[in-house]
Amino acid sequence: MRTTKAAGARRLGLIPPYLFAEIDRKVQEKKRSGIDVISLGIGDPDLPTPKRIVSVLQEAAADADNHRYPSYFGLAELRGAIANWYRDRFDVRLDPQTEVLPTLGSKDGISHVPLALVDPGDIVLAPDPGYTVYVTGALMAGAEPYTMPLKPENDWLPDLDAIPDEVAQRARLMWLNYPNNPTAAVADRKFLTRAVDFCRERGIVLCHDAPYSEIAFDGYRPLSLFEIPGAKEIGLEFHSLSKTFNMTGWRLGWVCGRADLVALIGQLKTNIDSGIFQAVQWAGIEALNGGEEETRAACEVYARRHRLVADTLNSLGWKITPPRATFYVWAPVPDGYDSIGFASHVLDEVGVNITPGVGFGAHGEGYFRLSVTAPDARLAEAMKRMEKLRH
Ligand SMILES: *Cc1c(COP(=O)(O)O)cnc(C)c1O
Repeated sequence: MRTTKAAGARRLGLIPPYLFAEIDRKVQEKKRSGIDVISLGIGDPDLPTPKRIVSVLQEAAADADNHRYPSYFGLAELRGAIANWYRDRFDVRLDPQTEVLPTLGSKDGISHVPLALVDPGDIVLAPDPGYTVYVTGALMAGAEPYTMPLKPENDWLPDLDAIPDEVAQRARLMWLNYPNNPTAAVADRKFLTRAVDFCRERGIVLCHDAPYSEIAFDGYRPLSLFEIPGAKEIGLEFHSLSKTFNMTGWRLGWVCGRADLVALIGQLKTNIDSGIFQAVQWAGIEALNGGEEETRAACEVYARRHRLVADTLNSLGWKITPPRATFYVWAPVPDGYDSIGFASHVLDEVGVNITPGVGFGAHGEGYFRLSVTAPDARLAEAMKRMEKLRH
C-alpha cells in the first residue's frame, strides 16, 4: 500500500487555525476538568429566535414541497422580501431578480466572493483587526491580502490615503464592515462616501459586510452602503439574519448590489452548494416581513448589558463608553499583558472566556473583545468574577 502523497493542500497551510476553533478547544478542556467557564468569547445571540419564525419553519418543514432541491438562487418570494426590507429600512431600491442573492449565512457569501471576483496575485484590501474570513477567503483564492490598519486615533476607520498607489492599482476588492466587529465602531456618511469615491476612481469592488446594521442603540441607525450615491455601481453588501433575528444556527443571509457581480457569485455557488433548505427560506421571509419590534427589544437587552460591562470595567480602572452598535465591547488589555496573555489570565483565574484582539489581526494586539451575548445572570456572574481578578 502506498502512503498518501500529502497531508493537506498547500493553500490550507497558508491559513492559520480558525481562532474560535482554537479557543473552543481550550475552553472545552477547562470544562472537562470541572471548571464552570462563562463564555463571552463568541458573538452568538443567547436570545432565542422569535416564535413566529420558528412556527413557520415547523409548518414548512412538514410540507413535502420543501423537501426537494431548492433553487440555486433562492425563492422569488425571499428575494422579494429582501428587496422590500431594503426599501423600508434604507429607502434603497434593489431589483429582486438580479441584485439580490440569498446565501447560506453571510459567511458563505463572504468566503466565496474572492473565488468569484479575484484572480491569483490580485490584492484584496481587508481591515485589521477584522473578521478573519476576509483574509482567509482571499488566501483560498490565491489572492494577496493587504491589511488596512484600524486605529483608535482614526475612530477605527481605515486611513485610505495610507494605501500606496501601487497597492491600490493591484487591488480588486476592498472589505469594510460597519458597525464593526470586533471594535464596535460605526461609520458615518462622510467616511462611506470617501470609500465609495476611492473605490470608484480605482475600479475596486467595495464589499460592505453589514450583519450588525440592526444591532444599534439609543436611536442610532446604521447606514446601508447603498445610501451613498454611486455605491451600487461598484458595491456589494452582505447581510445576515444571524444577528438581527437570533438565527446564527439557521444559516441564512444574502449578498446584494451590482447585478453582474451578484450573478458571478451566483454562478460560482451553483458549483459549490445546492441552495438553502426551502423551509428555512420561508422562515426567513417571515422574519423579514415581521417588523422590527423583536430586534429593538433585543437591542434594549444588549444596551443594558453594555452598561453593566462598562460600569464594571470602569470601576476597575478602564475608561469605556458603551458602544453605539453591535453586541461587542472592545477594550485595551491592562499594562504588562499582551492580548493572548490577558485572555489566558482571565480564563485561568476566573473562568471567563474573552477573545484576544490579536486573533483579529496584528493591529488588534493590545485589545480584547467581549461579547454581551450571554444570559443576564451569566453576564452578571462574569462581571462579579472580573471584579476579583488580580492583576
Ligand atoms: C457574524 C458575522 C458574520 C457572519 O454571519 P453569518 O452567521 O455567516 O451570517 C459576518 N461578518 C461579521 C463581521 C460577523 O460578525
